Amino acid sequence: MSYYVTTPIYYVNGEAHIGHAYTTFIADTMARYQRLKGEDVFFLTGTDEHGQKIEESAKACSKPTKEFADEISASFRSLWDDFGISYDKFIRTTDDEHIRGVQHAFVKMRDRGDIYKGNYEGHYCVSCETFFPQTQLVDGEFCPDCGRSTSVVKEESYFFKLSAYQQKLLDYYEANPDFILPRSRRNEVINFVKSGLFDLSITRTSFSWGVSTPDESRHVMYVWLDALLNYITALGYGGDEKEMRYWRADTHLVGKDILRFHAIYWPAFLMSLDLPLPRHIAAHGWWTRDGEKMSKSKGNVVLPREVADAYGLENLRYFMMREVPFGQDGDFSQRALIDRINGDLSNDLGNLLNRIIGMSAKYSDSLIDSRAVSQFHSSELEQMGQITQHIEKFLDEIQTHRYLEELWKLFAIGNRAIEVHAPWVKMKEGRDEEALATVALVANILARASILLHPFMPDITTTIADALGFKINTASYNAYLKDEKLLDTFTIKRVPPLFPRIDEPLLEQAPKISHPPVKEEISVEEEPDNLIGIDQFLTVALKIGTIIEAEEVAKSKKLLKLQVDLGESKPRQIVAGIKEYYSPSSLIDTQVCVVANLKPAKLMGMISEGMLLAAKDQNGLSLMRPEQQREAGSSVG
Ligand SMILES: [Zn+2]
Repeated sequence: MSYYVTTPIYYVNGEAHIGHAYTTFIADTMARYQRLKGEDVFFLTGTDEHGQKIEESAKACSKPTKEFADEISASFRSLWDDFGISYDKFIRTTDDEHIRGVQHAFVKMRDRGDIYKGNYEGHYCVSCETFFPQTQLVDGEFCPDCGRSTSVVKEESYFFKLSAYQQKLLDYYEANPDFILPRSRRNEVINFVKSGLFDLSITRTSFSWGVSTPDESRHVMYVWLDALLNYITALGYGGDEKEMRYWRADTHLVGKDILRFHAIYWPAFLMSLDLPLPRHIAAHGWWTRDGEKMSKSKGNVVLPREVADAYGLENLRYFMMREVPFGQDGDFSQRALIDRINGDLSNDLGNLLNRIIGMSAKYSDSLIDSRAVSQFHSSELEQMGQITQHIEKFLDEIQTHRYLEELWKLFAIGNRAIEVHAPWVKMKEGRDEEALATVALVANILARASILLHPFMPDITTTIADALGFKINTASYNAYLKDEKLLDTFTIKRVPPLFPRIDEPLLEQAPKISHPPVKEEISVEEEPDNLIGIDQFLTVALKIGTIIEAEEVAKSKKLLKLQVDLGESKPRQIVAGIKEYYSPSSLIDTQVCVVANLKPAKLMGMISEGMLLAAKDQNGLSLMRPEQQREAGSSVG
């Protein structure tokens, strides 16, 4: 059997942060786990290098765009190499084979009738490089994904008939309940598709840094079409097709912010290309630091290389995959990392190994003999079997934290066996078969646990296996886990302590913040990473305004153009999406609450210099107004 796992291709507009490392660690762990089971694995990672944002970033540091992309792509690659990430291919969207594959796919979709030329006039978010229909904009203006202001752009464009795939997608979600992982994210995708899919504009003429369409070089492919296709061009799609036997992908790991593109656009593109759809799209959450959102401007971005250098790469891998339920947001703090190292790794695992090394040296010249284990410890063997037989289903669903939680129960069985059977008491009277069997039992527990832990901590578990006289590979996986064999007689090797205790944080703390960090139980439904401090709230200038003029905007179903007095030298023009709810005449001389320090935006060609606050539900929309008349320009807060 083959297994194909991917990370997203990382956008080359900045260096790798802890979130990139997290995705890559999980993908690497999945790849190692499948290889251990003897599967034929293809593990893909790489960089996404096209688009207007990259063009602009390169310009900002006065570099040719390709040179800029080369540097950042290389920095990702060298980080993964230094981290021992076991990828089979590192793809760049600037690779020739990728570009050819994308063009090949474009022609195929066009010949099938799924691509047509039209004119796009729409609300475009430069940051997300995405057009949004008016109905999806927040407050008629803001990008639903990143919240930034969108601008109205009109250009000739090729379209992909996404609308034609709405029902096919819904049928697929229905038939494949674990297509989207974790399953808690499934409904948001289904609801989005049910709300109606629009044809997708897939080319731009407004910039040139991208893959051009085969016949018209001024049309450059929309970055998502280009980017998503990497998962098949990496296998030779549209070229030698050398590795296409790995398709379909088993697991696309993605951040929750790009789930929609992977769970909606990507399967639609694949259906258009007559290719099978991926088995799982697995969306993980985001990382905060000490309860704070990470950002360059706050100076609190966690750099994976720094943390790995200070605390150990595999300790970091373990921490990230153990600490956070997959799919939920996680918090990085040195305290939590230290607690995991001192607790789980040093106390539970490290001590158990040290006790076995110590006792076997004292009682049996380091010789471990498993022959009497089943005679004295059948109940422990049975408990162990129950765990090892069901543990893998957690990893199959990328529930890394649950898998590790189960795995740690093995160490608990080992530690308990030593407490209960107290070999040192029995050995006081001279050689005792039961005491020696207890030591051998624990050696066997450590052996099985180190095989199961190997995909997460490859080097450290190799050291443990070395001490226990076996090698971790598919043969030992089959022997000790599948067939539940016990270790052969061997002489234990001493190893230095694997997890020295850490008392103080090893890195400088994140810069001081002006308010205490918010820590709450995190669940998928409520996302506390949306919480803001009062200082952030106060950056929004809310004011009472009096509407002095209101008129309909021709050709717009939604917009009214208002002149609003905010007590300034002249009234502000505000374009608001409230036409369905208010007639212009009913608004004159009424008061509203206005966001007064919003960057001016253009809506249907008209400048809008503010935003009205309103509440909306399924029954309609109401403007927020002061309970009593206030002076125009009064501040709200
Ligand atoms: Zn956006």
